[in-house]
This record gives sequence, C-alpha cells and structure tokens, in this order.
Amino acid sequence: MPLYAYQCDSCSQGFEALVRPNRSPEPTECKHCGKATIRKVPTTFALAHSELDALRALDPMYKRMVEDQMAQTPEAEPMRHLAKMTPFDVVDDPGDPIDF
Ligand SMILES: [Zn+2]
Repeated sequence: MPLYAYQCDSCSQGFEALVRPNRSPEPTECKHCGKATIRKVPTTFALAHSELDALRALDPMYKRMVEDQMAQTPEAEPMRHLAKMTPFDVVDDPGDPIDF
C-alpha cells in the first residue's frame, strides 16, 4: 500500500494519498481546490531520510571546514590586540602616563 504525496501547482497545497490497485486509484484532482494540476512528489519520509543521511555524511567535513576558516579570522589570534598597539618608543608623543 504505497503512500504517495502530491503537490498542486494551482493552489500549491500538498496532500498524501494511499494508493491501492483497484480499490483506491491514484487521485487525479487536488483535494483542496479540485483542479487536475497535481503531480506526484517524493514522500516526506523518503526525502527527510536521504537529507538526514547526506547531512550526517557531511557533518565531520563541514565541522573541519568551519574550524579551518575560524582559525584564519583575526579573532582566533589571542594576542590580536597587542598587534594593533603601537609601542611607546615608536610614537612621537606617547601621551601622559595613565594613573591606575
Ligand atoms: Zn489545488
């Protein structure tokens, strides 16, 4: 008893139908608007399953890619603030000393 999913091109609504030979034939009209502009689409279950598998296969590679990119950002360098500072002996006027 295959369960098929259908998508209507007129009202863009989706619905599912249980198709059994001789007993409940495939629908030819949209359940929502009644027009014959429906087409069969992969069922949500099959689609979700394959996408999940693809995501799982992608995950370790994706995580490494993100970590590589993060390591190249300025924020990844802990001493980045020091690199932006100008040493006192280089500037003409270092200013008054800060009284903490
Ligand atoms: Zn429709």
